[in-house]
Amino acid sequence: MPETFRKEIAREILRLSGIEVTLPPEKEREGQEEEISEKSRLLRELMEELEGCRLCGLHAERTNLVFGVGNPDARLMFIGEAPGAEEDRQGEPFVGAAGKRLNVWIEYLGLRREEVYIANILKCRPPGNRTPRPDEAAFCVPFLRRQIEIISPSIIVTLGAPAFKYLLERSDGITKVRGQEFSYRGIPVIPTYHPAYILRSPAREREVYLDLDKVREILRRLP
Ligand code: SF4
Repeated sequence: MPETFRKEIAREILRLSGIEVTLPPEKEREGQEEEISEKSRLLRELMEELEGCRLCGLHAERTNLVFGVGNPDARLMFIGEAPGAEEDRQGEPFVGAAGKRLNVWIEYLGLRREEVYIANILKCRPPGNRTPRPDEAAFCVPFLRRQIEIISPSIIVTLGAPAFKYLLERSDGITKVRGQEFSYRGIPVIPTYHPAYILRSPAREREVYLDLDKVREILRRLP
């Protein structure tokens, strides 16, 4: 059944049930759908390009490439440092205990995980979950920059020191910069702690919520 016809039927059922459905004008809606599918296509192409990447030594031990996950049209993008063991196994970022903590933060912002986009500085797991090395980041970050360019989020939240350092090419400590507003090619960036760190130091989570309040403020004022 054609998509437009299926939508018409769904709308009619809702109307007959007494539920008022307000939709944007057809042309505008088509434009939005085209844009979303164009972003999905570009992300898929980038992911296909990356499958089998051997630019740095991390390819040798990966089970899965961890490209990124979420809404290609997300207004909010989270960037962490690298996949851990569970992420490497499942091929998705932030799926372990740290991922559950991140989900709580996303909910605090009034959003669902499917509404944001989540990616890492590195797409392959460093052995023993060690911090990304500069040479590995130098190879992998250009892919992340292309991801950001495609998604074009309204705001980026970096999680932990390496994400901030390699995205913005700055060496400031995370305790000093967290909660401050920076800019990446015109996109506001708010650095905060990595959820894995918060699991080890729960007393610092209060600061994360202050940072998220700032994110919420920025999301409110931006399109
Ligand atoms: S970490 Fe990035 S640059 Fe290195 S092999 Fe994986 S995808 Fe390629």
